[in-house]
Formats: sequence, structure tokens, C-alpha cells
Amino acid sequence: MTGTLIGLGIAFLISLWVFNDAKSRGSSAPVLWAIGVFLLLIIFLPAYLLMRPSKKDVTLVKNAPQLCPHCGKYYEPPVTYCPHCGNKV
Ligand SMILES: [Zn+2]
Repeated sequence: MTGTLIGLGIAFLISLWVFNDAKSRGSSAPVLWAIGVFLLLIIFLPAYLLMRPSKKDVTLVKNAPQLCPHCGKYYEPPVTYCPHCGNKV
């Protein structure tokens, strides 16, 4: 009985982690992944780890500095106007 409870607790913690991880990576169905991991940990956890979107790529795309076409300086998106020359980018 205690073993079952510990197993359930671990499965719950892992599914919680999967939910937060999937959400932070912009996954379309973090709840489904969390439920799948909770019910079928052995199958869904490896599947999730294989299929989850790469966090690195998402961050790179979002925060990569862009080159202003007007003044040639780098700015940090998302911005509408260049912080250096004030032109729309
Ligand atoms: Zn500029």
C-alpha cells in the first residue's frame, strides 16, 4: 500500500513537471501530456522527452538580437521602434 502511494506520488510529480515543461516550451497540449505521463509513465515519459519542442530554439528565436535596417545597430525584440534611431523596424 505504501509502495503504491509512493509510486502515485512520483508519477504525479513527474506529470506535474511534464505539464510545466510542456507549457514553458509552448506545447499545444500540456494537459494531455501530463495525464498521459501520469497514467502510462513508461510509455509517455520517453515519448514526451523525444517529442517535446526544444527550449533552446524557442528562446533563440524570441530573443535573438535583430539588426536595424535604418542605423545598422542591434536591438532586442520584441520592439516596434528601434531604440537607437527611433525608426520603425
Ligand atoms: Zn535603428
